Amino acid sequence: MSLDDRDWWREDRKKKEKLYGGDFSLHSRPKYRKMPDIKPKGTGNGCGNVFATIIVLVVIFVVALASGVQIPGIGLLSEKNSVQSDNNNSIISIPGKITFKREVPYREIDINGSFVTFDSGVPTKTVELAEGISRILLQNDNLLRQFVGNGWTVHLSDHELNGIGDVEHPAGYTDYKNRCIVIYAPHCEHVIFHEFGHYFAYIYECNFENIKSEMDVLYREEARNFVSYRGDQETKYGKKNVNEFFACMYDNMVHDADSSYCPKTENYIKNCYNILANTDYKDIYSVNYEYRVKLEELFQNYGATYTFILDGERIDPKTYDIHDFPTKGFSCQVSGANGTGTLVIQTYDIENDKITA
Ligand SMILES: [Zn+2]
Repeated sequence: MSLDDRDWWREDRKKKEKLYGGDFSLHSRPKYRKMPDIKPKGTGNGCGNVFATIIVLVVIFVVALASGVQIPGIGLLSEKNSVQSDNNNSIISIPGKITFKREVPYREIDINGSFVTFDSGVPTKTVELAEGISRILLQNDNLLRQFVGNGWTVHLSDHELNGIGDVEHPAGYTDYKNRCIVIYAPHCEHVIFHEFGHYFAYIYECNFENIKSEMDVLYREEARNFVSYRGDQETKYGKKNVNEFFACMYDNMVHDADSSYCPKTENYIKNCYNILANTDYKDIYSVNYEYRVKLEELFQNYGATYTFILDGERIDPKTYDIHDFPTKGFSCQVSGANGTGTLVIQTYDIENDKITA
């Protein structure tokens, strides 16, 4: 955990200019619903300010889109927009995480390149919208590096998506196995926030101990009180299960909608977001926590002298980057004696939880 003493959203201006400059030059006038007015939550804790900042950014972005104005990227992250910060008390508790001991050569990550892919029929303005909102939600270099470095993408589809579970025509879904947020392009502006809510909850759960059970407790305790700013249908959807509850809460929060019906969950999500925002890519993975612990133990226990075969390919356990570990589950057979031998690791999918709409 590399917790940062400074306010992480106060990034170097030049860097942000480079990152955001010119990416938001949209001139059309899409039909946006009116966003709520920005009401920063006073001088609360740092987490609240993170979200207040995001809300400011989202609203500025959408308002600018609606009015056909080019957003001055440098102004988005100016201190003016994050002056509510006054301390760093936002880390309420630091959950347990794995500390790796191996010298893993992490790959280069280009956070300036696009991570949005799209079908041929998707309008350019929708692609730019998806990229712009994604970069607002992945607001600092840590969050961007986690997303890109773990191989995540946003894909825009020009045709309706296949049903998932009991959702017949999802506007979007999050595919954890393939590390992709998939969106039916005409619904992008509505659904992208919800899907990023799934992404953040999942990444948090993957990387810190006991998160799943904590989320389950919050769901049982508070979901019945949830009210979505999007209306009754979304309110019902947010109560459906723990995954939807967190995604809908996140959607509410980045739109500055009233989330006080579920105060513990609201605080929890702020905390989750802040911890992720303060953690470098090298410590954040898209692999289930428990499986990663087991895999890492194998690497540490046998890595010095054993041969590792992962899904038929020989890998070097000293340098294998677990960011690349392909799925959530695996089985392993160890053969050999006297400190040498072979580990054959076979990965497999876990059907459950692979995709959420
Ligand atoms: Zn969902």
